[in-house]
Amino acid sequence: MKELRLAVIGKDVSKSTSPEIHKFIATSMGKSISYEKISVPVYGFEQCISEILEAYYGVNVTIPYKLSVIPYLKKLDGDAKTFGSVNTVTTRDLCGYNTDGVGYSMMLENENVDVKSKEVLLLGAGGAGRSVSKKLLDMGAKVSVYDKNSAKAYALSHEFGELNAIESLNVKPYYLIVNATGVGMHESEGQSPVGENLLGLCEVAVDLIYSPPKSKFLEIAEGLGKKIVNGVGMLFYQAYYSECIYFGLKPNSMQAKRLFEEYLKEN
Ligand code: NAP
Repeated sequence: MKELRLAVIGKDVSKSTSPEIHKFIATSMGKSISYEKISVPVYGFEQCISEILEAYYGVNVTIPYKLSVIPYLKKLDGDAKTFGSVNTVTTRDLCGYNTDGVGYSMMLENENVDVKSKEVLLLGAGGAGRSVSKKLLDMGAKVSVYDKNSAKAYALSHEFGELNAIESLNVKPYYLIVNATGVGMHESEGQSPVGENLLGLCEVAVDLIYSPPKSKFLEIAEGLGKKIVNGVGMLFYQAYYSECIYFGLKPNSMQAKRLFEEYLKEN
């Protein structure tokens, strides 16, 4: 069996767990891959991206290159076109995909979080907030989005009509609150974008952060007896969907769920 040469590129991917996750998924599907981490400083991106796209069969793209890679591609598939952001590239045809939104939907589905006709508060209207908001709307949720930079929330609601941009956080009950702000990781570890007043009124709290596994946001929600979900499922499922693209396989959410459960047992 031919081994596919894959890599992830980002500004600093030294701590990325993508190689382990991708290798686990590929091996479980009876496929063979190599998977490298390539950290590229912003000033060096232009010089090396074409070479990287030539050298690998498939490339995962992460912060801050999900937009900057687009001019080097020939076409964009579905969600990549909708979000104007790419996290997966098949280099044989230079096609860009975005698997973040599907990863998020699979995570909610496999956690039995049904948002249809329910009120959802999305915190953060950046790259991830964008894909999450569109998927929530597709799933029939009534979505309000808050960003500390309200222009970003309004831009999203302009783009995806049914989305309600809010300028301040009123205390009201939401079925689900999603943290897509990044607050709670790196230098903001130990902080939460919202407190007990809002989390106390929700049923489910989802944080896209997966390191630390339990952010302050999730810790507060758990302490109040709420269902909590961290971002590791989304990370795993978006990688699963990328592997399906590389190998030309149809994604199967039952298979993805089984593999994720096995992965958690082993890691
Ligand atoms: P991003 O583009 O920087 O977006 C975050 C947005 O939230 C920015 O607009 C930011 O505004 C805003 N914000 C910051 N603090 C806020 C606060 N207290 N209240 C409201 N809005 C606030 O980042 P991203 O790429 O979307 O990533 C967001 C998070 O998702 C990160 O934690 C990332 O690791 C995670 N993520 C997880 C997965 C996964 O597979 N689990 C996939 C993608 C992303 P400013 O720019 O003004 O600070």
